[in-house]
Amino acid sequence: MQSIILSHVTDFDGWRSAARGLALRGIPPQDVVWSVEEASDLFAQAEPAAPVSGAFSVPRALVEMAETAIQARDPERFALLYALIWRAHRGEKHIVEDAADPLVARVVRLAQAVRRDTHKMRAFLRFREVHAESTVRYVGWFEPDHYIVEANAPFFVRRFATMTWSILTPYRSAHWDGETLRLAAGARREEVPDDDRLEAYWRAYFASIFNPARLKIAAMTSEMPKKYWRNLPEAAAIPELVRHARERTEAMVERPVVSSERAARVRPQPAQAAPGGLQALAAEASGCRLCGLYKHATQTVFGEGPFDARLMLVGEQPGDQEDLAGRPFVGPAGQMLDRVLAEAGVPRATVYVTNAVKHFKFEPRGKRRIHATPDASEIELCRFWLDQEREIIKPVVTVLLGASAARAVLGRPVTISRERGRRIALPGGVAMVTVHPSFLLRLPDESSRAREYAAMVTDLRTAYAWLG
Ligand code: SF4
Repeated sequence: MQSIILSHVTDFDGWRSAARGLALRGIPPQDVVWSVEEASDLFAQAEPAAPVSGAFSVPRALVEMAETAIQARDPERFALLYALIWRAHRGEKHIVEDAADPLVARVVRLAQAVRRDTHKMRAFLRFREVHAESTVRYVGWFEPDHYIVEANAPFFVRRFATMTWSILTPYRSAHWDGETLRLAAGARREEVPDDDRLEAYWRAYFASIFNPARLKIAAMTSEMPKKYWRNLPEAAAIPELVRHARERTEAMVERPVVSSERAARVRPQPAQAAPGGLQALAAEASGCRLCGLYKHATQTVFGEGPFDARLMLVGEQPGDQEDLAGRPFVGPAGQMLDRVLAEAGVPRATVYVTNAVKHFKFEPRGKRRIHATPDASEIELCRFWLDQEREIIKPVVTVLLGASAARAVLGRPVTISRERGRRIALPGGVAMVTVHPSFLLRLPDESSRAREYAAMVTDLRTAYAWLG
């Protein structure tokens, strides 16, 4: 029996190097015991395993899934992940695509739970202002369900780069001094001071964005459980806002809606009734305030199509007409997509279509609204909704229309010309990158348009053939 002791609860490098060595030495999962030693020097490296030579390669999708799932608070995670690596190493190269495999399904569930927890941390963490001598430090308390602090700390560094802050959780704390990120042991709730000026700010902010017409108390309490309310200063404002919701809704109804005339010009009815889970998710997303894009858009535009679709198409974001209609791919790019699908022999009614980003990003130019590309942080934040859509639909093949869609699903920057048409493994399926139909519309001359149109038809035909 082999005993592997990792240096901390999210020691991915230690786990990966041990897993590689074990697989190369032919040691099966049932002969390995994994454990964690929390060293006094928190991030001391575990004793490196003696190097073992030999060919070792596992699919990138598996490595990415392992990197997420290793953050799950499940004592069996190291063993489960090694069992996956073991099978991939011994010839099951596409194992990660087999969503029906019980081992894959369990690891996918771990990764999904980690992603949900990550979203909650990014959405619900609140900093309080702490004054010490002449400096100001912002301190936030959060109680994650999983071991997500290490992987998320760089996100907070990017978002609050100019602030000096500490994030405290029961198992780990992260400290940023404007230059260096330091991880340390966990902390206690009492270490976060209670009174601060930010509290008033958060309450006022929440009251200003609260939409009484979208009030769903059940969703608020399940998606934002009581334990997060405790740490959210704005939660104190909720009872009062709920009490006055009806009057505020009536006042909103009275108010003229500027875009109603334009909205009436586009198709109003969804082609497919969304099943319960998707409907609830779409309703939940309609109140999303995670990034700033909701402020100027008319509404969220969620995906649509059959619940059992095996082919999913992911675009970038709704355009002007989609924003008004509340439906994806109904404008000029959608019409181009319809033509491409028809020519490729793909029945549109069998396809689920959605976007990486659910709100329309644009720049006003006179009376027109000109498309603006969503940035990496908007794509990353909105990925929360796309991940859940994909979790419900479970597509076998996902076609990524353009760089934003590819970034959202693959989680990395993608150069279309380099990766176009390739079969890319995803947990539970495969993906193909191709161009967005709006790219065809922007081409200046007829001959390049005809050439690119034919290439896109070929891509869609190939992706459809992958369904088998
Ligand atoms: S674009 Fe996405 S993340 Fe941003 S507010 Fe809209 S739904 Fe939320």
